[in-house]
Amino acid sequence: MAWSKESRHARGYGAEWDKLREQILQRDGYLCHCPECQGGKLRALPAHEVDHIKPKAWFRSGRAKGNPDDPRNLRAVNRDCHKRLTAVQKGHRPAVRIGVDGFPVKE
Ligand SMILES: [Zn+2]
Repeated sequence: MAWSKESRHARGYGAEWDKLREQILQRDGYLCHCPECQGGKLRALPAHEVDHIKPKAWFRSGRAKGNPDDPRNLRAVNRDCHKRLTAVQKGHRPAVRIGVDGFPVKE
């Protein structure tokens, strides 16, 4: 593990988050629920991470209200999809575009 326990806690990801994360993964059947996969409707990718649908930063800034860790604001996502989602949220263009066949498109 690259992250120490302290840094996980400092980021707000402690034992409670691990429990919640497991619940969300189970609820979502360990399938990616990003907009491009939709839990196997468009593409079936295994999910091992949990994404905040509305980013935590929105709650800190007041753009979103309520609890960011509400299960309704959480979804299981694939690691690569998560990276792409995070990049989009930060305003970067995704480095890799995924085609309809589920494979990266070379541009
Ligand atoms: Zn996905």
